[in-house]
Amino acid sequence: MNCIFCKIAGGEIPSNKIYEDDKIIAFYDINPVAPKHGLVIPKLHRASLNDLSEQDADIISHLMIKIEHIAYLMGIKESGYRVISNCGDDGGQEVPHIHFHIIGGKKLSAKIV
Ligand code: 5GP
Ligand code: ZN
Repeated sequence: MNCIFCKIAGGEIPSNKIYEDDKIIAFYDINPVAPKHGLVIPKLHRASLNDLSEQDADIISHLMIKIEHIAYLMGIKESGYRVISNCGDDGGQEVPHIHFHIIGGKKLSAKIV
């Protein structure tokens, strides 16, 4: 599959890695929108939130539970951060491998749209 995030997960494309285990990998966004901008993805390819099923519950709950540790490694756990998953065209999704943006390092706008 010609998926850029699968290639990052497989080490084919280099990334500035924050955290990795057998199920997930987190790395810094190549085009950050804030002083700290990470992405966390499951290694298993799923295109978006629209493509999850109950069978993915273990992996996605693991990913969510690890976010606080990834935020800690990014140095923003205590200062706070925002987690976003863009889905589909109106959601502004560009990479069709589910990912969660972890954004912080400054006071973010109160508005998300
Ligand atoms: P989306 O718009 O799909 O929610 O977000 C995709 C994100 O992936 C964007 O913020 C973009 O900067 C980031 N991105 C795209 N290609 C690469 C890449 O090759 N490496 C890294 N580290 N980030 C990427
Ligand atoms: Zn993929």
